[in-house]
Order: sequence, then C-alpha cells, then structure tokens
Amino acid sequence: MSTAIATVSLPDGERIPKLGQGTWEMGEQPARRASEIAALRAGVELGMTLIDTAEMYGDGATESLLGDALAGLRERVFLVSKVYPHNASRRGVQAACEQSLKRLKTDRLDLYLLHWRGSVPLEETVEGFEALRRAGKIRHWGVSNFDTDDMEALIAAPGGDACATNQILYNVARRGAEFDLLPWLAARDMPTMAYSPVDHARLPKRSPLDDIADARGVSVFQVALAWALQQPGVFAIPKAGRVEHVRDNHRALELQLDAGERAAIDAYFRPPRSKRPLEML
Ligand code: NAP
Repeated sequence: MSTAIATVSLPDGERIPKLGQGTWEMGEQPARRASEIAALRAGVELGMTLIDTAEMYGDGATESLLGDALAGLRERVFLVSKVYPHNASRRGVQAACEQSLKRLKTDRLDLYLLHWRGSVPLEETVEGFEALRRAGKIRHWGVSNFDTDDMEALIAAPGGDACATNQILYNVARRGAEFDLLPWLAARDMPTMAYSPVDHARLPKRSPLDDIADARGVSVFQVALAWALQQPGVFAIPKAGRVEHVRDNHRALELQLDAGERAAIDAYFRPPRSKRPLEML
C-alpha cells in the first residue's frame, strides 16, 4: 500500500496528493532508464502517487517509460498528461489522447492538460476534452502555463469553468503568480499545480535557503520544496530520477518552516508587489 500523504482538493472535491512526481527529461537516456523507473516506483510506494507527464517529453519516450514504470501500479496512481497546443483541436485532441494512452499502457488519464495556450480556439479544446471525458478516456481536464487573462478567457468559453487546475512555473525564486493568478485560482477552488518546484535545479548558489538547510540538517532542495508545499492551495511535482532524491523530496513534507525562516526567505526572494507576466520553462 502507498503511504497516505497530505492532499489538496480539486474543484469537484476529489483529493489528490500534495506532493507528486514530474517526468520531464526521463526516458531520454538509456543509461538512466533503470534509475528513473526505480525512482518513480519508489515515489509511488511513498505515496507520491500523482505523476505528471506530456506527449511532448522525449517525443513520446517519456510516456513510454512511465507506462513501463507503472506496471502493476497504475490503479494507485493519479496520472496526468498534456496535449500540445497544435494537437488541441476538437478532433486532434482525441487522436493525441489515444496515442498517449497507448504509450502509457492504460485506458484512461486522470487529468489531461492543455500544455500552453496556442492558436486553437479554447472552446474547441474544451469541447474535445469534454468528449474525451464522456468517453471515459479522461477523468478531469485542465490547463498549463495560463496567466490570469488566459484563465478569464477560458472560463468565458462554454464549459470552460470545468477546468480542474492550472499547472504553472511556481517556486521560491519565481513568485510572480502570487500577485493575481494564485488568488484568482483560489477564489474558484482550483488548486495550483507547481511545476519546477526546485527551479529545475537552478536555485541560487547561496541564499537564505542554504542557512535554513544548514541549521536544519537538510538539503536546499528540501527547503525549497517545503516552502512550495506550505503555500495554500498549491501542490507540487518535483522530478527526481534517483531514488535518494525521491526519498529526500518525500521528507520535505515533514519540514515545517517557521515564521522567522519564512521571513528570511521573503526578504531575499521578494513576493511580487505588482503584476508580473507568468514565466514558463
Ligand atoms: P524540478 O522538479 O524543479 O527539478 C528537477 C531537477 O532537480 C532534476 O535535475 C533533479 O535531479 C533535481 N532534483 C530533484 N529533487 C532533488 C533532490 N532532492 N536533491 C537533489 N536534486 C534534486 O524541475 P522540472 O523537472 O522542470 O519540473 C518538475 C516537473 O514539472 C517536470 O518534470 C514536468 O513533469 C513538469 N513541468 C511542466 C512544465 C509545463 O510547461 N507544464 C514545464 C516544466 C516542468 P535528478 O533527476 O538527478 O534526481
């Protein structure tokens, strides 16, 4: 059995783990394959059963690796994939989803996201997602890399308010969304899925995160992740291709930053005081 960990609620009340796993750059190097599969499986055993992928990653190779990694584990996992914007037409989304399901060796996705906003009208994508939902191929749908104006346009489209979440670049070093996007999503009971929660391993060389890490006897990665996990309505999907990194990330759930530590972080990684356009990787 997977260990139970803290959860967040989707708008329909379904609860999903606050800490999941990313997969970007997995499945691209044969020499890393065994380690990546072991890491993903260890994460599921620890309760990090929310797993994010995309048709884009490794040109399908990442979904294929994930399909193999989930052998015997699929029923315990909340599986998320993403469709390219150029595949997100009414018909295109059906075909793209079928291909993802095949690579992932499953009959359904728990959540299907539009990877970023492209030129296909949002109402078409919503219609495509809803058709997939009626057919039982996906259970929820959402978006990624949508700024506040994109979210406004989405919910103005017919059926657009059924969006479950917005997956965005959000971490201690990239806090722009706190100004308006996070409150916008929270007001609509949509949790925010934070991608690159440890900033793609590019956090500053020396910052208050290091002082906290030294004082607590943990790593800078764990401090950054603990910070993200303590933001209300936020859930995070760090990618770790090694079992020891997965275990470290899981231990970040136990790390409660105190008011002084949070103040030191705020003094260095300042919260936004005005609108900043949403960044993306
Ligand atoms: P990330 O999770 O912030 O960082 C991943 C990097 O950090 C890897 O190099 C990993 O190394 C390292 N790492 C993770 N935990 C560690 C630990 N405890 N100790 C030391 N190193 C650690 O970056 P990300 O992969 O960009 O983002 C996470 C996931 O979000 C992606 O995998 C993907 O699923 C999703 N994403 C979505 C979008 C989008 O446009 N929607 C964009 C980017 C990412 P190892 O692999 O060696 O363990």
